[in-house]
Order: sequence, then structure tokens, then C-alpha cells
Amino acid sequence: MPTETLAQRLRLAGLLGVGLLIALTLLNLMQAAAGLRKDNERSLHHAEAMIDGAIDDSQTLLDAASPLIGRACKENTLALRDLIIASPYARALYVLEGNRLLCTTLHRPLQEQNLPHYLFGKQDLILASHSPITGQTAILYRKQVGGRTLLAELDGFHIFGALRAVKGEENLFFILGDKALDGYGRTQSAAPLLADRGNLIVNLSDEHPYRLVALNGYRQILAFAWDYNRDTLLVTPVLALLLGLLTFHLSGRGGSPRRELARALAAREFVPYLQPVMDSDGQLRGCEVLMRWRHPEQGMIAPNQFIPLAEECGYIVPMTRQLMEQTLEHLRTVADRLPPNFHVAVNVCAQHFKSQEIVSECRAFLDALPGQDIRLVLELTEREMLECDEQTLAIFDALDRLGVLVAIDDFGTGHSSLSYLQKFHVDIIKIDRSFIMGIQEEGPSRLIVENILDLARRMEVALVAEGVETRDQVEMVRRYGIDYQQGFFFAKPLPPGDFSRHFLPHP
Ligand code: C2E
Ligand code: CA
Ligand code: CA
Repeated sequence: MPTETLAQRLRLAGLLGVGLLIALTLLNLMQAAAGLRKDNERSLHHAEAMIDGAIDDSQTLLDAASPLIGRACKENTLALRDLIIASPYARALYVLEGNRLLCTTLHRPLQEQNLPHYLFGKQDLILASHSPITGQTAILYRKQVGGRTLLAELDGFHIFGALRAVKGEENLFFILGDKALDGYGRTQSAAPLLADRGNLIVNLSDEHPYRLVALNGYRQILAFAWDYNRDTLLVTPVLALLLGLLTFHLSGRGGSPRRELARALAAREFVPYLQPVMDSDGQLRGCEVLMRWRHPEQGMIAPNQFIPLAEECGYIVPMTRQLMEQTLEHLRTVADRLPPNFHVAVNVCAQHFKSQEIVSECRAFLDALPGQDIRLVLELTEREMLECDEQTLAIFDALDRLGVLVAIDDFGTGHSSLSYLQKFHVDIIKIDRSFIMGIQEEGPSRLIVENILDLARRMEVALVAEGVETRDQVEMVRRYGIDYQQGFFFAKPLPPGDFSRHFLPHP
């Protein structure tokens, strides 16, 4: 039994699907953010160790060169070159006095005008974009020895190579003064990079005056998530879609039929269908009111699918009340076309006899059709036996005084048919369809019908044959003198408008 309308089911499925998509994606991004931070910290730490190693080597180199620089250039060049060859990082040494270049380990002499200006500065560590040797990035380490300045040049590759080795070309920068070096070996201004502090992890070297910076913004987090959690990211929308579909499917399968009944009751979805009851001359004598559930999505639902649950939940009483109200509404519109002594049969169950309300409802029904020759019939099945207590008997009495008739439905199919006749005042017996089906042949069905007939005559109870489907059955029922007939031979239960159009005289 469905629990929700289509729109509600779609909304619920969409909400859960999108909710899962957002939750899993957020979780994924949070994991990626934490993973990236850890990864960046590890990279900075490793890069720092590699870069410090290169700079420390220059420091050692300059310490070794210091005692040599007091001599004339010619005398120390070879010794200085030996030091350079022994160093894994350094490329050249320069000895300056004031602004004058005294000596280098280069084989080519440097022209005064070609000397880079940074040689004459004061910084201990210099990031140079254009080495006089390679024309590429270089790092220079400076040491003052007496009146002379000693500079060791190491290839920039030892710095940006370290950045690249631990983190690829992007995302990690070496910053010295106002310049930044990236993993490609390109230098740029450091200011724009450092402006976005919130999206950076900065690492100050403990030993030397440089900083390492790792980008840690949304773009890097997304890229990290894509690199490391691609499968989860791709599976998430599929999972969300599956959850949505599953929710849609399950919500349509009736997680809570009780709630659905309550909703339908509030929406007045239970409607009456009327099936004609004819007399032995084939004249209309009344109708049975049969409940249908006009479901907004499922269409008409037959009573067998919901009446048992409605009885179990106690909703059957208000549902029957609505059914009687709607039947009444229709009958009022056709009251002047109804045949005299028109019987309106309503199905009730044991729960209706737990309260006096059934009496007031029947009274209200009859009072609403003043001056009409209408008989109300309450049909009771034997499925649930009524308790024969004072209250029930009082209700039967009150109904009798109102002129309401009581019928035993599906007579002969339960265990308590005879007990009913014994304990309560019954006006009508409805012979079950299963006996009418076998009425044409010699056999138990015919015998049972003959016995019911005998019983009914003796007890002065009227008889209705249920489920009359063929002309032969009609004839047979008539021959037996059964008072009333009902069945598909005459008509199926019809919407009230159709019933009146087909069976009542035209206005
Ligand atoms: P029922 O009270 O015995 O109603 C007769 C059932 O037999 C109806 O089925 C009717 O459509 C069907 N019927 C009538 N003539 C023929 C025929 O010639 N051949 C066949 N094969 N069937 C025929 P429906 O409307 O599906 O109702 C089924 C049962 O649901 C009813 O059996 C009754 O027990 C219950 N029910 C229906 N409406 C109500 C209601 O308002 N309140 C309660 N408590 N029960 C109801
Ligand atoms: Ca019935
Ligand atoms: Ca019946």
C-alpha cells in the first residue's frame, strides 16, 4: 500500500540523494584538506633538509677558503678551484675587495661591467635570477673575511630541484628576501604569493634566512582530492542516485500503511460504489454500498486490500461514517426518483457495536431524507462475532425502533451464522455467492440453499441471493422464491451517478 504522494516521494528521494551527495563530497574534501596539509608539512620538512644541506656545504666551503684569500689571486686560484671541485653543490667562488673583484675560480675572466650588482650587496644569502656563469638561477652565500668578501655560488637547481623532488613543480616555493623561486626554477616577486596567507603553509628555516611556502588553498585541495580520492568522488553521485531511487521505490511500497490510511481518510478518498439489489420480478429494490479507495496514484483500490487493515486500526468506523455521508449526499439529489421502500445496505463490522454512535448515525441518515420511503440495512459478516452483551442488545433494540434492518452477510461461510440468528434479531439473510454458483446442479450447494430457504421461512427472515451472474441462476433463484437478487448479471458496483443514470427513472 503506498504511503506518500508522488510529489512527496520525489521530494524525499531528492532530499536524501542530494543530502548523501553533499555529505560524502564534504567528507571527501575534509579528508583531502587534512591529507594535503599533512603532505605539505612533510614536503616542506624534506625540502628544508635538502636545501639546508646545500647551503651548509657552501658555508663549509667558505670556511675552508677563508685562510687562502689573503694571498694573491694567482697563488690561490688553484687551491680555490680544488675546493670547488670537491664540493657537490658549489659552482664558483668569488673574492672581492670593496667593489672590486679580486679573484674567481672561473676560467673565463669576468668584465667589470658584466659583474652582477648583487655581488656587492650585504646579504649573506642571495637568490640571483641570472648567474654570471650559467645565466640561470643561482644561490650565493657570502662571508666577510677581514676587508675581503668571499662568495660561493651554488646552482639554483639544488634549491628548485629539492622543491620539485618533494612536491612536483607546482605548489612549493623558496622565498628569499622579496623573491620567490618555484619548482621550475623561475623567480618571481614574493609579495603576491605571501598576500594570500590563509591559503599557505609557511616554514621558516631554523638555520638560514629563507622561507619555504606551500600552497594549501581550495584549488590544491580539489586537485589533491581528485588525485587521491578519484574513485570515491566518482562513486558518490552513483551512490546518491541509488539512494534516491531506493527511497523512491521503498516510499511507494508503503512503509506505514496505517499513516497512509489516515491520510486518505483526511483527504476523503474513500468513496461509495452502489450495486443494485433486484426483486424476483427484476425490479430495482435497493442497493448495497461498497467502499472503494480512490487513490491519487493507484486509481481505484478494491476493499479487500484495505478493509482488514482499516478494521485492525479502528479506522473502519470513521471510514464508514464518511461513506454514509457521501451516499446520503447522492441520494438526496435523486430522492424523488427512488422506488418506494428503497433499501440502502451498508456493510458494518463488530467495532460499530462498541458505541451508541452507530444508532445516531443511522438516525441522522434517515432524518436527512425526510418523507422518503427508504430502509437502511446494516450488513454484518460472521468474520467477527458480536458480543451478546447488554450494550449490543440495546443497540440492536434502538436500531429496530428506528426501522433499521439487520442482514447477515455471506451467510453459511463462517462458523457463527446460526448463533447470530439465535442471539440477535435478524431481518435479512444474504446467501453467499459460493452457494448460488452451485445452485443449478444436484449437490451440496443446492441442499444448503434449500435449507437456508426453509430456515428463513420459518424464522420470517427475508433472503437475498448474492453473486447472481447468469440468466439460469436468475431463473433458479426466482423459482426458489428467494426475495431479492444481487450480482453481476444485473450490474457491477457502480459510481453513484452511473447507478442512478442506469437504474432510476429519468427526471
Ligand atoms: P460483500 O459485502 O460480500 O460484497 C459483495 C462483493 O461481491 C463485492 O465485492 C461485489 O463487487 C462482489 N460481487 C457482487 N456481485 C458479484 C457477482 O455476481 N460475481 C462476483 N464474482 N462478485 C460479485 P467488493 O466490492 O470487492 O467487496 C468485497 C468485500 O469488501 C465485501 O463483500 C465486504 O465484505 C467488504 N466491504 C466492501 N465495502 C465495505 C464497507 O463499506 N465496509 C465494510 N466493513 N466492508 C466492506
Ligand atoms: Ca455486503
Ligand atoms: Ca456478501
